Amino acid sequence: MRILVVEDEKRIADFLGRGLESSGFAVDTAADGATAVEMTHAADYDLIILDLGLPDMDGLKVLEKIRNRKTTSPVLILSARGAVDDRVQGLEQGADDYLVKPFAFVELLARVRALLRRGQPSPERLQTGDLSLDCIRRRVMRNNEPIELAPKEFAILEYMMRNRGRPLSRTMIVEHVWDMDYDGLTNIVDVYIRHLRSKIDDRFPVKLIHTVRGIGYMLDTPEQGASAGTLPVSGG
Ligand code: CA
Repeated sequence: MRILVVEDEKRIADFLGRGLESSGFAVDTAADGATAVEMTHAADYDLIILDLGLPDMDGLKVLEKIRNRKTTSPVLILSARGAVDDRVQGLEQGADDYLVKPFAFVELLARVRALLRRGQPSPERLQTGDLSLDCIRRRVMRNNEPIELAPKEFAILEYMMRNRGRPLSRTMIVEHVWDMDYDGLTNIVDVYIRHLRSKIDDRFPVKLIHTVRGIGYMLDTPEQGASAGTLPVSGG
């Protein structure tokens, strides 16, 4: 696994480089935004750790340039700015996680590992916005609050989170969640989605379960849901 560390403070860059290398990663470092952008064009990094305060351009600008080139590497933003606005802006612009300085290296390492597991066939922990699902411990949390789900609700949510941003038909959901002996109506999906919404979305301003008219349902954060563009998506 190869990681690009974009950080102008040499002390921090060295600290991260040493720590990550001793944890088994290959690490390249860039001390400014322009170099970082060039490096992401030249190599395909498994992860990019990006400081926001860079000498030549704002880290968010670097993020925009990286994402404009369709680089899909996960990006972990690192910044002294802890303001909610910065965090939201970074995540909206395509960052995958955000860590505020000062941080403990073990915390960074945990985030790095979590990001690298994403996109793997069977990550044990799924995350969409502030909703997380632990496949092994069978736990669901939203905004750090535990949510109790019935087994079928859990299975539907897991399937939707594994297919984040992809509209799923009722038939697809039934086929993935009920076993082959089930020959009932796909309308049962609507019933379960209603239960899921009442547990996961109703109390929160940001809705994650979207109705895709004529198709079925989709789980995503609103930003990415909107980028699905032509689909008639509603929070319904
Ligand atoms: Ca800096």
